[in-house]
Amino acid sequence: MTVIPKTKYWPPGSGDAAVAEAAEAIVSGGVVAFPTETVYGLGADARRPEAVRRIFAAKERPADNPLIVHVGRLEDALALAREVSPLEMRLMESFWPGPLTLVLPVRPGAVAPEVTAGLDTVAVRVPDHPLARRLIAKAGCPVAAPSANRSGRPSPTTAMHVLEDMHGRIDGVLDGGPTGIGLESTVVGVKDGVVHILRPGGIDAEMLKECAGEGVEVAEAGANPSDAEASKPRSPGVKYVHYAPRGEMTLVTGDPARMRQTVQDIVNRKRAEGRKVGVLSCDEHAASYEADAVISLGPRDVPAEAARKLFAALRECDARELDAIVAEGFPERGIGVALMNRMRKAARGDLLTV
Ligand code: AMP
Ligand code: MG
Repeated sequence: MTVIPKTKYWPPGSGDAAVAEAAEAIVSGGVVAFPTETVYGLGADARRPEAVRRIFAAKERPADNPLIVHVGRLEDALALAREVSPLEMRLMESFWPGPLTLVLPVRPGAVAPEVTAGLDTVAVRVPDHPLARRLIAKAGCPVAAPSANRSGRPSPTTAMHVLEDMHGRIDGVLDGGPTGIGLESTVVGVKDGVVHILRPGGIDAEMLKECAGEGVEVAEAGANPSDAEASKPRSPGVKYVHYAPRGEMTLVTGDPARMRQTVQDIVNRKRAEGRKVGVLSCDEHAASYEADAVISLGPRDVPAEAARKLFAALRECDARELDAIVAEGFPERGIGVALMNRMRKAARGDLLTV
C-alpha cells in the first residue's frame, strides 16, 4: 500500500479552492474523502484501475466487494449503463439526487473492472450534498466511492471518523460537517420487473412502492428467504460483516418495558463477570440504566435521529473500551428498517426478542 505521509484536511467552509484541490487530487489518480448526505465516501476516478485499487488498499476492502459510482447527473449515469428500463428510469428521476443506488447492467469499458469486482453490473447514484456535487462536477469523471471507513468499522459520519481510520492512507478529506442521514444509501436492483432492495437505507420500501406504481412488486432485503437466489441481482457486499464495534454487542427487541428490564439484566450479568458494559438506549430509558456507559440515540419514536447517531455511538463504544454493549431495538418504520438492519449487523446475530 502507498503510504501518504500527510493527509490533507480541508476544514468546513473552505470554498472553491479546496474543492478544486480535492478534484485535482482525484483527476491525478488520488483518493479523497468527502461528505455525502448518507455517510462520508472515499472517492477516486472510477475509470482508472490504479486509482480504484488505492481505495481497496486504503480500506483493506476485499476485492470481490464492488464499489458504488457517484455521478453528478442522470445523463452521466446513463453513460455507464448498457441499458435502462422505464422502471429504472422512473426510480432515478424520482429519487435523484438522493440516497438511492441502482444496480444497472454495466456498459463495457465505462468503469475500471475493479469497480464492479468483475460483475456485469455497476451500482450508481447521484448524491445530494452540495460539497459532493461540487467535487464531482469539478473532477468531471465518475467517482467510485465506498464509505470512507476501514473494512469492518462503522461508516464515518464526520470528517474526524474518516481521519481515525484513514489518516496517512489517503490524499485528503473535505470536511462538510456531520452527515444528515447517517446510514448508507438504499441499494436496489430491478430484475424481471421486481424492485429488489439489496440493502435498506433512507429510501424505504413504501417510498419505492409509491414511485414504482400499481402492480410493481418491491421485495425487501431478506423478507422472503425462500426467494430463489437466482432471481435476485447479486450483492456481494451483503455477505461481509459490517459496522461491528470491538466489544460484543447484544440487541434486544420487543415490548419497551420488558426490553428495558432485559437490557439491565444482561448488563448486570456481564458486569458480574468483571466486564465493562455499555448500553445503547433511547432518551426515555437512558437515565434509568446502571452501566459503565449509557449512550442515547434519541427519542424512541424518532428513528431518523437514531440513524444519524448510530455509527458515532458505535465508535464511542470503542473509544470507551467497552467489552460489551447491550442495545435497545427501535421501531421498524421508515428509516427504522435500515437502522435495525445496521444494528443487527453490529450485533453479529446476537439478538433477543422479549
Ligand atoms: P459501500 O460502498 O461501502 O456503501 O458498499 C457498497 C454496497 O453496494 C456493497 O454492499 C456492495 O456489495 C453493493 N454493490 C456495489 N456494486 C454492486 C453491484 N454491481 N451489484 C450489486 N451490489 C453492488
Ligand atoms: Mg461501506
